[in-house]
Amino acid sequence: MDSPTCDSCGSQNLRRAHAHSRLRRLYRRLTGQTRYHCQACHHRGWTDLPLQPRDGQGRAVQAGPGRRSERRDLVARRVARARVILAVLVAVALGTLVALLLSRPGD
Ligand SMILES: [Zn+2]
Repeated sequence: MDSPTCDSCGSQNLRRAHAHSRLRRLYRRLTGQTRYHCQACHHRGWTDLPLQPRDGQGRAVQAGPGRRSERRDLVARRVARARVILAVLVAVALGTLVALLLSRPGD
């Protein structure tokens, strides 16, 4: 399995970081990427790959494929993305409807 590496220094000692601002949370929702904090150089960036849980010394903790929290994350991410897509579709449908109503010749 590929481990995510730091964009800045190439270290694999990364931790999940919180996406604090609204813009970052929106970005996370739209892209499904995870924000990380590099423990080696303190760079913060984004990765597509899942971050491995680490112990206090920065060693990767082996986690089984069925870790409950990871599955919950995955489901939550999928639901969030589906919600965004649905919102966009509804907005497009409403926009089309309004455009049709406005373009209809008045009688
Ligand atoms: Zn780094």
